[in-house]
Amino acid sequence: MDLPQKIQQLKKEKKAIILAHNYQRPEVQNIADYVGDSIELSRKAMMEKDAEIIVFCAVDFMAESAAVLNPSKKVLLPSTGARCPMAQMLTVDEIKRAKKQYPNAPVVLYVNTLASCKAEADVCCTSANAVEVVQSLKADTVLFGPDMNLAEYVAEKTGKTIIPIPAHGFCPTHLLFQPEDVKVLKMEHPKAVVLVHPECTKEMRAVADFIGSTSKICKYVKESTAQEFIVGTEEGILHRLKKENPNKTFYLAYAGAICPNMKLTTLDRIYEALKEEKHVVTVPEAAAKKARASLERMFEVKS
Ligand code: SF4
Repeated sequence: MDLPQKIQQLKKEKKAIILAHNYQRPEVQNIADYVGDSIELSRKAMMEKDAEIIVFCAVDFMAESAAVLNPSKKVLLPSTGARCPMAQMLTVDEIKRAKKQYPNAPVVLYVNTLASCKAEADVCCTSANAVEVVQSLKADTVLFGPDMNLAEYVAEKTGKTIIPIPAHGFCPTHLLFQPEDVKVLKMEHPKAVVLVHPECTKEMRAVADFIGSTSKICKYVKESTAQEFIVGTEEGILHRLKKENPNKTFYLAYAGAICPNMKLTTLDRIYEALKEEKHVVTVPEAAAKKARASLERMFEVKS
């Protein structure tokens, strides 16, 4: 039996499901029950009533959200080193300081935050619904963290005053994309449609034909009549895009746009974690209760 077969067998024995983020390695995406963005995956986990174990192939904050939303299930993160540097850029103290400075401003936190921070938020958002979440609030001034680029994009779309917390939070992988590279690719492939994630800089967003989260990019490509696409998000997405659209062609806007943290999850680590039921992600109940409320308020916003 090869490793993917061994994992499938263990999965059945232990009533587990395997969820993989769009940025995971191709071989990890191939053995997953579901591939998607962080909130699509957490929702899937909630819907899988019979599952007792969730193997979350992604990074720390996503596994934490799954644990918060699925308190009766055991959530495993196959690689304990898989931490999102952007999520680490925001601390509870920073949120408290900002709240003191702007006591009337609601706190909207991107899901790319630790559960302890989500517990301090009024509502969470994803890159797919950040604009709608901020629009749904009565306030004209909003504290938003931790991604300054997404904060800036939301400000452009809503016309509201968005105060980023921290001032310069960013995703190191999405920062690698540069408009110069897109211009070169456009010269080589003039008909290609440029798709950019909102974690990219303003300069990258300016050269985009479409700006959206990974789930929105996948939907856009499926529905588009275009044949070629230049993609401005982490390279793992190309595997899903090619699988879902075998007759279309994709060019990564920067060949080195690889999130090393996402790539820490390997088949070996998944097998070990599931076999030993190790690397269980837990969130203290007091913080989990508040973080759950912030996530549930997000689910109530129509997008
Ligand atoms: S791609 Fe960026 S935001 Fe996503 S896990 Fe990697 S560092 Fe974090």
